[in-house]
Amino acid sequence: MCGIVGYVGPRVATPLLIEGLKRLEYRGYDSAGVAVMNGSGVETVKEAGKIARLEALLATTPVHGTTGIAHTRWATHGPPNQKNAHPHMSQDGNIAVVHNGIIENANSLKRMLEKRGYKFMSDTDTEVLAHLIQETFDGNLEDAVIEALNQVEGTYGIAVISAIDTHKIVAARKGSPLLVGLGENEYFIASDVSAILAHTRQVVYLDDGEMAVVDRNGYRIIDLNAEEVLHKKVARIDWDLAQIERGGFAHFMLKEIFEQPHTVENTMRGRLLLDEGTSKLGGLNLTDEELLAFDNIVITACGTSWHSALIGEGLIEELARVPVEVEYASEFRYRNPIVDEKTLCIVISQSGETADTLAAMREAKRRGARTLGIVNVVGSTIAREADGGIYIHAGPEIGVASTKAFTSQVIALLLFTLKLARLRDLSLLRGREIITGMIELPQQIQQILDRAEEIENLAEEFKRASNFLYLGRGYNFPAALEGALKLKEISYIHAEGYPAAEMKHGPIALIDEMMPVVFIAPHDSVFDKITSNVHEVKARKGRVIAITSRDEPALEGMLDYEFRIPETMDILMPVLASVPLQLLAYYVAVKLGSNVDQPRNLAKSVTVE
Ligand code: GLU
Repeated sequence: MCGIVGYVGPRVATPLLIEGLKRLEYRGYDSAGVAVMNGSGVETVKEAGKIARLEALLATTPVHGTTGIAHTRWATHGPPNQKNAHPHMSQDGNIAVVHNGIIENANSLKRMLEKRGYKFMSDTDTEVLAHLIQETFDGNLEDAVIEALNQVEGTYGIAVISAIDTHKIVAARKGSPLLVGLGENEYFIASDVSAILAHTRQVVYLDDGEMAVVDRNGYRIIDLNAEEVLHKKVARIDWDLAQIERGGFAHFMLKEIFEQPHTVENTMRGRLLLDEGTSKLGGLNLTDEELLAFDNIVITACGTSWHSALIGEGLIEELARVPVEVEYASEFRYRNPIVDEKTLCIVISQSGETADTLAAMREAKRRGARTLGIVNVVGSTIAREADGGIYIHAGPEIGVASTKAFTSQVIALLLFTLKLARLRDLSLLRGREIITGMIELPQQIQQILDRAEEIENLAEEFKRASNFLYLGRGYNFPAALEGALKLKEISYIHAEGYPAAEMKHGPIALIDEMMPVVFIAPHDSVFDKITSNVHEVKARKGRVIAITSRDEPALEGMLDYEFRIPETMDILMPVLASVPLQLLAYYVAVKLGSNVDQPRNLAKSVTVE
């Protein structure tokens, strides 16, 4: 998920590799490393933390050579430390691999390789690739890489060098971007064009299932059957660097909103068992018996994660029938919460470093509870200190206003719920139905994103409002809270989320022709109820914006604006409903000229209490 750079040509490789890695720093990473062909063999230098630390190490242990690969890691398997940093070496020390992505069948491949005598030096999924390539190596690097990749399931962008088939880089892609940069008698490999833009603007993008074989004399693109891929286009890059870092999007937040079809899929990847109607979660560290033995569950979190927690509460109580309490992490320690050995405490934090959440988790532990972290950043403090957990695998989130982490947290909670509910009394049929619905989500999110322009127009119309009300019922109530929070965070317009029916116990007093009211009103089990709430607002001249999922005669003449989202089951709806609300907040903020990626007074990860 993070950064790859490779160089082959007449120049000394290391400075070019380091420069390339620095260009990828904006993506977020936790460790970095290089491997260079030094004439007699492959040498690697790697380090946890910032690239500056890697540079300091290289100053004392320089590596010289003209062919090399480099990596910034954003850990998915194993904590971010030196031994887990890439490149990873084959056991014989002849092959070095850098990898972005996740090898899903790493565990079974590892067991197989261990039986054959391979010793593993890291906790990563990537290392299996290095040994697999050694296992199949017969003098030709691309053949060995093809054979290895044919045994691998999951996603990858990789670059490989060898001390035997020298002065060559083999790179391959499936689900993780990679390109070849064409220079004068020199070639680059990169996961992102910003890494090499200082040296060339001519690039060939690899498609999934393709491999590039690059040496000083040229490059070839082949597929995983070693067949030549013909007619690959050379693209010319005209963008400037800042545009490229954001993948052509105006802001990281928008890029991250648009990444959601992939990030939601990444959270589910390798974890859905359709036939059994359940999920497979490797990191819970709980036996089925232990999971069944809890009397209650407490979920604690802050901000956006607290909203996903509310959705989790609904999911777990409805499907698994275990009582759940959701607590603000900041309040948790200052009450006397009912938490003991029979309690499972789930803590949710994108960064895994949120101070209040960490403190709440430690308090729950002190009281004897088992803890599970739902975290994005691998190796973060919460991930390390929790008894078990679920990584959401959403990739680095840079925009301060969380978007893709939210939808992935909801998916992670759903995966957990499925597992628990199927151990209790959820039927196989219902489990399968839910999974079928989940599998459709990425493409349904894409359908919403394809119509982002409609929301942009809506934003133009409503950007002058000084208050917004967001209303939803059931699972869409937390989505309403999240929609309101997004708007507040980046546009500085006051917004409140409320349960739609609760509105008449207070906020209805605020409604007049100046007040836009956003209703999340898809065709679900509470649709009839929400219709009445729409009428109540309209009767007081409020301006109604509705997120609907089909033509609704009951709403005819009631809506000032309507945005249609695809239909899905009630429990999945907040994932879809939150996407247009993220876009609404984004476009309003942009039109008001605010700094969307770094809104005033806010920090990405709140590490103070
Ligand atoms: N899964 C690999 C690891 O954990 C690669 C992570 C990445 O994409 O940086 O090391």
